[in-house]
Amino acid sequence: MNINYTAQDQAFREEVRTFLQQELPTDIACKVKNDKYLDRSDYVTWNRILFDKGWSTPSWPQQYGGCTWSAIQKYIFEEECFLAGAPRIWPFGIGMVGPVIYTFGSEEQKARFLPGIRSGDVWWCQGFSEPNAGSDLASLNTRAVRDGDHYVVNGQKTWTTMGQYADWIFCLVRTDPEAKKQQGISFLVFDMKTPGITVRPVITADGAHEVNEVFFDNVRVPVDQRIGEENKGWDYAKFLLDHERTGIARVGAIKDRIAQLKAVATRETRQGQPLLCDPLFRLRLAELEVEFKAHELTNLRMLAGAGHGKVPGKIASVLKIRGSELVQKTEALMTEAVGIYALPFVPQARTDSWDGAPIGPDYAGSKAAVYLNSMKYSIFGGSNEIQKTIIAKELLTL
Ligand SMILES: Cc1cc2nc3c(=O)[nH]c(=O)nc-3n(C[C@H](O)[C@H](O)[C@H](O)COP(=O)(O)OP(=O)(O)OC[C@H]3O[C@@H](n4cnc5c(N)ncnc54)[C@H](O)[C@@H]3O)c2cc1C
Repeated sequence: MNINYTAQDQAFREEVRTFLQQELPTDIACKVKNDKYLDRSDYVTWNRILFDKGWSTPSWPQQYGGCTWSAIQKYIFEEECFLAGAPRIWPFGIGMVGPVIYTFGSEEQKARFLPGIRSGDVWWCQGFSEPNAGSDLASLNTRAVRDGDHYVVNGQKTWTTMGQYADWIFCLVRTDPEAKKQQGISFLVFDMKTPGITVRPVITADGAHEVNEVFFDNVRVPVDQRIGEENKGWDYAKFLLDHERTGIARVGAIKDRIAQLKAVATRETRQGQPLLCDPLFRLRLAELEVEFKAHELTNLRMLAGAGHGKVPGKIASVLKIRGSELVQKTEALMTEAVGIYALPFVPQARTDSWDGAPIGPDYAGSKAAVYLNSMKYSIFGGSNEIQKTIIAKELLTL
């Protein structure tokens, strides 16, 4: 594998950098770089800027608004966005339900839903997990019973990320309780303002309101808002989860965070010396960087393969596991670098309006909350234990 970028790719990187320098709002980039929470308007503003440039859906087929970029160029774009402090594009519309709709939806559904997903004007959330259906998702119990040209939906979803902002939800519901569990599921999309929907916050260990419980009480959903065939929803869900997993390597994000870690270790001192001079700390940082480099190369190898038409397959599971482990390892080392000042748990330090007195250096206040928040990466998108089983099955059946 040639790991050097071509002249064309380097020119593309320059084009992306220039665009980011000119178009990424400074206040939003500042929030990202300083671990502040972003609100809905920050994400929508950035999505709209990308949309106006024609860059909001680079991975979609061109006929639906995708770019002609190679897999490597998509990676370069993502990396530069992370390094510049651009907010991530929330995956639920562009990365998840959009591909399901353009692949399995009717022409009417494509015309109705794809424009709002591309522009980011319509905020989507994912209603898959339930209190008794996470890793074993096919056990889901939310029922949809046909009543004329509507389904009547009853049940509960949980861990619904950013459901508090959502305009629409895509949901897996049980339409045939008699069938084998994977075969009785359908894929519905509906407006979050439909009567009978209640959203309740779930506050996570880091003090954040990122996830929710969503309750359905006789919610009436028109049948023409079912994507694809009735009882075939599991096939569409598997397709969607593959999309979810490939975006989860987080290479650009980890690279940026390691650079921030080095900056902190240069400023922090131990016994009068910059922490970066401490041989034990240097060793751990070097180990982290070596592991990260291997991860980056694995990701590039997958992208190079994709450029030659290879399907990512189970390597997506490898990238998900390593990506989440490295995020957690980086945050753990960051917390250690900040030292005692990372001990106070100050979740408010992540809000933009926080004007509390800093306990240590100004970058320290958010670190405990960010560390706790990083625990989520090995759970969502299919937990790491489940990914290991997927990899083991592939190897053992060779
Ligand atoms: C921050 C966050 C955001 C999320 N956002 C969304 C969202 O927007 N929409 C949505 O639908 N869901 C979302 N999820 C849910 C997520 O997909 C589930 O949490 C995940 O699938 C695990 O399911 P569970 O929580 O029910 O845990 P369980 O499935 O109960 O698992 C508990 C533990 O047991 C292990 N385990 C389970 N089964 C096996 C097995 N067969 N072999 C080995 N180990 C096993 C798991 O790895 C885990 O460690 C989110 C979760 C988190 C943490």
